[in-house]
Amino acid sequence: MRAIVYERFQGPLTLQNVVDPTPKHHGVVVKVTATGLCRSDWHGWMGHDTDIELPHVPGHELAGIIVEVGKDVKNFKVGDRVTVPFVCGCGTCPQCHSGNHQVCDNQTQPGFTHWGSFAEYVTLDHADINLVKLPEEIMDITAAILGCRFVTSFRAVVDQGKVQGGQFVAVHGCGGVGLSAIMIANALGAQVIAIDIHDETLKLASELGATKTVNASKSSNVVEEVRGLTHGGAHVSLDALGSQVTCFNSVANLRKRGKHIQVGLMTGDHQHPKVPMDKVLANELEILGSHGMQAFRYSAMLEMIKEGKLQPEKLVERTISLEDITIELPNMDKFSNKGILVIDDFER
Ligand SMILES: [Zn+2]
Ligand SMILES: [Zn+2]
Repeated sequence: MRAIVYERFQGPLTLQNVVDPTPKHHGVVVKVTATGLCRSDWHGWMGHDTDIELPHVPGHELAGIIVEVGKDVKNFKVGDRVTVPFVCGCGTCPQCHSGNHQVCDNQTQPGFTHWGSFAEYVTLDHADINLVKLPEEIMDITAAILGCRFVTSFRAVVDQGKVQGGQFVAVHGCGGVGLSAIMIANALGAQVIAIDIHDETLKLASELGATKTVNASKSSNVVEEVRGLTHGGAHVSLDALGSQVTCFNSVANLRKRGKHIQVGLMTGDHQHPKVPMDKVLANELEILGSHGMQAFRYSAMLEMIKEGKLQPEKLVERTISLEDITIELPNMDKFSNKGILVIDDFER
């Protein structure tokens, strides 16, 4: 099969012919029809993820059609159109037994713990627990951007943040994950404040449902500005970028008993940021994380997409070919795209 491969971290990405994959007895092989390019792929290529073994094929947000099924798979068959959350659970550890597959003790992640979806075919493990059948109404390109950024945001806003209509929600960083969160919080009836450093990105954030925006590169005090716009602080605030500054601001701009959700990955120098713990104590703030979402929670999200309440396809900036990844992936840190790039051409 054709696949995008790198042989060393931060080294060249090349389109190569590699051996076709075979499924584990509990897994499947999926022919990839569309796959999203995510900043986590960039983090992996940079060497920020200790799970990755070289040489490596990245890619973890995907839609496709099952072409081969392991002997123990009961609920899926060849020809099924599916997607998958980027964290795949084992189904048997204590976390999975408690319904929290997104933090499985033995989790597998396509594009990290094994080869991913920047290829014609990808293997997915423990298919009965992790695969999600796609409704006809949802296109491949839409489905391809759900598995990482969109589900993580859905879980952050709905399951962790428990956002309600009328609440103020602050979203720091308007990349794919931030824009997803803005759309989801808006659909729930919240008033969303978008914070970013690019006016163009903030314009898109407004189109997707942000009621107010703050350009952090022009603001003398982001925290005070958000507190002013929200009449005392956000009820729920997300760090959707993953940096020392956005994390601190997201905690500091909360109102009393507000919730901070860490959604952006914290890597490198940003792993252990300063947090205003004095405010956490005095104001009874909550600090939560969001790490993917269980496959069984997809139905709630897919229903909202089918009804048009959520329109993830609006986050897609443009579609590209497999080979384009060799240029686009290393540039993910430059934030030159204001939406999500999706690979839907596997011939080039
Ligand atoms: Zn597990
Ligand atoms: Zn991702």
